[in-house]
Amino acid sequence: MKIALVGIGKIARDQHVPSIAASPDWELAATCSRAGSVDGVPAYTDLDEMLTAHPDIKVVSMCMPPVPRFEFARKAIAAGRHVMLEKPPGATLSECHALEDLARKAGVSLFATWHSRDGARVSAARDWLADKEITKTHITWREDVRKWHPGQDWVFDPGGMGVFDPGINALSVMTKILPAPVHLLSAELEFPANRQTPIAAQLQFTGSTTADFDWRQEGPQTWDVEVWTNAGKLHLTHGGEHMTVDDKEAGDDPAVVGEYPSLYAQMAELVATGGADMDLSPLRHVADAFMLGKRVQVDAFEW
Ligand code: NAP
Repeated sequence: MKIALVGIGKIARDQHVPSIAASPDWELAATCSRAGSVDGVPAYTDLDEMLTAHPDIKVVSMCMPPVPRFEFARKAIAAGRHVMLEKPPGATLSECHALEDLARKAGVSLFATWHSRDGARVSAARDWLADKEITKTHITWREDVRKWHPGQDWVFDPGGMGVFDPGINALSVMTKILPAPVHLLSAELEFPANRQTPIAAQLQFTGSTTADFDWRQEGPQTWDVEVWTNAGKLHLTHGGEHMTVDDKEAGDDPAVVGEYPSLYAQMAELVATGGADMDLSPLRHVADAFMLGKRVQVDAFEW
């Protein structure tokens, strides 16, 4: 199936282009980006022009930051194309619901991807927890923004979500593996004095569930979920790549290896079967944190 990538930047180059190239399902037939392009692939700077020139491109995958994404997705859906959305699927819940309505009316598929849910042991963690009684959950998602988003000022602009840009990955794992839903009770959000979005956040949910997100961690990075149950403690580490139960290795290998190869396999399946896959629960928790969170001012942040 022919596919186009829109927004050729860090994640498109790191993950989308190699995953499409390695898949028998897909052919990268065009790109649309103001400055970026992919060697040997027809490149456009205008989406309408690309869609008109390539009626045979069935799927458009959106890789730009969340704020500009809605307008690109709306146009692709209006042109009858199936659409795949990088995480977070939009800058607001309302625009995600609007896209879902538009896709349903146009009869095209829409996929809100959550790449961290396809970490190698995340499904195994969900399966292990399914029949357990959860007593406590703690998420630690601490990384270095200078390493993962060098110079990307959009993460600190309104709609960029700050530390929730990686934190929403943790919430996507949480909402996949916990057997019962939780909701936010309170939050503390740390805003650098010179920025519009938080650089750290501490969240308290129902079900004795807590999360600690921080973008100031240098040295080893931490992407862990710990779940205490009536049958032992599950520990997912390295963003879901490894899993232990009571400190012993656990969890089978997944059928498709790699987060993005798995997302593209799911998109091929979704197009084949029809319909939308728009689980917005991770974005809902982020919206709740911005609504309920206490704002704390911390040191200014410079790259
Ligand atoms: P990025 O490199 O800053 O942006 C991707 C591309 O989007 C840019 O190169 C730019 O291409 C285009 N773009 C930026 N602002 C735009 C605007 N206002 N209007 C139209 N196009 C615009 O960002 P990224 O790191 O790839 O992240 C993009 C998305 O992927 C985010 O939602 C992020 O959460 C997600 N993601 C990122 C990572 C990561 O490690 N960085 C990992 C997983 C998921 P042109 O200038 O050529 O138009």
